[in-house]
Amino acid sequence: MSGHGLSASFYTLGCRLNQAETALVRDTFRNDGYELVRFGEKSDVCIINSCTVTDNADVRCRKLVRQVLRNNPDTYIAVIGCYAQTGAEELSKIDGIDLIVGTQDKLNVLNFIDEPVKRAEPRIVMSKMTRAPFTIDIAGADIPTTRANIKIQDGCNFMCSFCIIPFARGRARSRALPDIMREAMALADNGFRELILTGVNIGTYEFEGKTFLDLVQSLTEIPGIERVRITSIEPTTIPVELLDFMAESDVLCSHLHIPLQSGSDKVLRDMKRLYNRREFIEFIELAAERVPDILIGTDIIVGFPTESEQDFLDSCDVLENSPLTYAHVFTYSERTGTAAQKFAERVPPQVKKERSRILHRISEQQKTAWYQRFVGRTVRVLTEDVNREGLRTGFSDNYIRVALRDAEQLSSNELVHVRITGVQGEYALADVVSSADHQRESITIS
Ligand code: SF4
Repeated sequence: MSGHGLSASFYTLGCRLNQAETALVRDTFRNDGYELVRFGEKSDVCIINSCTVTDNADVRCRKLVRQVLRNNPDTYIAVIGCYAQTGAEELSKIDGIDLIVGTQDKLNVLNFIDEPVKRAEPRIVMSKMTRAPFTIDIAGADIPTTRANIKIQDGCNFMCSFCIIPFARGRARSRALPDIMREAMALADNGFRELILTGVNIGTYEFEGKTFLDLVQSLTEIPGIERVRITSIEPTTIPVELLDFMAESDVLCSHLHIPLQSGSDKVLRDMKRLYNRREFIEFIELAAERVPDILIGTDIIVGFPTESEQDFLDSCDVLENSPLTYAHVFTYSERTGTAAQKFAERVPPQVKKERSRILHRISEQQKTAWYQRFVGRTVRVLTEDVNREGLRTGFSDNYIRVALRDAEQLSSNELVHVRITGVQGEYALADVVSSADHQRESITIS
């Protein structure tokens, strides 16, 4: 059945990869004739792309379902993705869900909606997750910023004790390289100039003898793609050659997000991470040495069950005294089904909260200090939307968030050279020096 005359809304919980996948699913609905409406508006179909990274993520998903039903009891509700994969039974007990689709089939959710008519019992679609390379036959142009997430990989073979992802998304598998190139070229044709590589453990990418580095190099050669951004990548999966390529390439952004998780060797062992503190620090020092002006961010978990006060201070120490610029701080919360559940210790909620606050503060200080280093220097920025103060914003190649003064003439998706003049809150303030652009059309951002 075609979706002509029908409407659909979408909600994404969780990570950047989920966002990229929702964009792909939205395109299937649009191509089928559905009118896409904002989440919260009345729609015939509502797709919730779920997350299960913590027990709280599951709770949020269930709440969301109830909220949709309260506002719009006739909406056909499909829950897809990670929580659908691990919690189908639990979800099927909630009145009002019509379709539950696990990880393997989530991108094809539309194929399972013959007619969006509410059902007494949900239909559950749960296929075995494959390990084979995959393709995605969707355009993926429905992206709400000037930076386009592109999915290159899924699943993970590492078994970090706090993480449910290998169960929710299965074992590591890579997207066929020609298929990635096809989508990247389509994105370039649609006016996108920056690609953000997404996946669960992207450094383990492998397709017919081609490595992650081979893929990155190929993407940087696509005409029209002026930036490729790696962002989150596991520390043990980054070859030194990638750093050398980053240093010499104008297209590969000097920016990595490398999860540390803890600065304590004891906690890293309990987490079953594949490196120790010294190895992590040595690697990011090497990256900072090889790639001028690289920005390195990280993830740190506070309140892991075996984290003592000293372990926590070890995490603070790495953040403060290494080339890390910022940390995304995650407060540990128990995840049913993970190995970390076996630890008898518990860090009291108040202590977790306090540790989180301290690390956030260090992260903010580090970031401000790092932005300050660039005052007086010129960087290249890809423009995005206008902030609350009415200033055009954007990111530099090395991920400085910039707000531009006197830039009314600029629209989004323009490459400009700007001089940084100061730091205000979360932004580096800057003046436009010159356009780095040949004239290009702006993308229409929905
Ligand atoms: S590397 Fe560890 S934390 Fe990351 S997805 Fe794999 S198991 Fe989870």
